[in-house]
Amino acid sequence: MKTIPYGRQDISQEDIQAVIAVLQSDWLTQGPGIEQFEQKVAEYCGAKYAVAVNSATSALHIACMAAGLGEGDILWTSPNTFVASANCGRYCGATVDFVDIDFRTYNMSIVKLEEKLVNAKREGTLPKVVIPVHFSGQSCEMEQIFELAKEYGFAVIEDASHAIGGRYKDQKVGSCAYSEMTVFSFHPVKIVTTAEGGMVLTNNIKLYEKLIQFRSHGITRNSELMTEEAHGPWYYQQIGLGYNYRITDIQAALGFSQMARIDEFVTKRQARAEKYNKELQGLPIILPWQHPDTYSAYHLYVICLEENKITKTHKQVFEDLRQAGIGVNLHYIPVHTQPYYQQLGFEWGDFPVSECYYQQAISIPMYSAMMEIDQDYVIKTLKEVLA
Ligand SMILES: *Cc1c(COP(=O)(O)O)cnc(C)c1O
Repeated sequence: MKTIPYGRQDISQEDIQAVIAVLQSDWLTQGPGIEQFEQKVAEYCGAKYAVAVNSATSALHIACMAAGLGEGDILWTSPNTFVASANCGRYCGATVDFVDIDFRTYNMSIVKLEEKLVNAKREGTLPKVVIPVHFSGQSCEMEQIFELAKEYGFAVIEDASHAIGGRYKDQKVGSCAYSEMTVFSFHPVKIVTTAEGGMVLTNNIKLYEKLIQFRSHGITRNSELMTEEAHGPWYYQQIGLGYNYRITDIQAALGFSQMARIDEFVTKRQARAEKYNKELQGLPIILPWQHPDTYSAYHLYVICLEENKITKTHKQVFEDLRQAGIGVNLHYIPVHTQPYYQQLGFEWGDFPVSECYYQQAISIPMYSAMMEIDQDYVIKTLKEVLA
């Protein structure tokens, strides 16, 4: 029996041709395709600058570096995320802490954020960077976070790995209207793919220049940034410490080609979500609630089991679905419960809403190329498993 995955890429003949064209060209990496991809995404999102890198993990790292995060500083994010949203703080030597989630959106709770900021101000432990994660493709309440950022003086880096093509109020996610920087992931299960890849968007030229440097060894070819006049046309300077986080032209061409269909991808995901919303009514599960200010890109469709209404356990339901060939998954194991973070002092019980959510959540298949017949099978099987 084939398994219906929880997510997968949507590759067209045009995408394949775009990749082949790069392989036949002069540039496999550091060619013109990267800037074209960056411009395409920046334009789509309504941001001024974009820097493409080899993963969202790298993007988060250089975004934190550009924000000046270092030893002695503090970064806050949501426990309901992939570990990379927290690890980027650790790469910079910063202390990582978490803000529990809202029980309806599963995004960072604004109420908890404000409470924690009030306490942190009193104790002198305010964060330098806060990373709200647009979980499942639904934007966090960015206007409120932005207001708090101004009041308490932290930088906001949006982890929008799930959310390219989504909207908040009348802005596209990635516009950076309420943040310093926004990060996208182009992993194959995300909305748009480059196989591996990520991007940082910003409206701030100073941050942009830093991101460019950190992506490639701390090297610049911009004479305005050099300490002395160029020795000749070969000259470059290393003016800081960076990495090799570059993306290839092969990947950028795939991403550029994929961007032609981004609205189609999201519209299809929205249609699948609507069908689930309609067909799964009445089952002992909580369907994904949508904040009226948001238009989700629906990277994930997460159901939460109402365990007091069913006899099976969460694990049993999960196993039954896998047994029936449905590649369900669980997003996310609360990051603070990972052994690495437990060693840093976190414990079960620290973020109870995220932990409670973790006991109930199941990600069911959601991707733009999902066949109608497969979605019908998922719906039918869920009804049987939960009967
Ligand atoms: C996928 C993901 C990442 C990491 O993305 P990569 O491109 O695989 O490095 C970071 N944060 C979130 C929320 C993600 O879902």
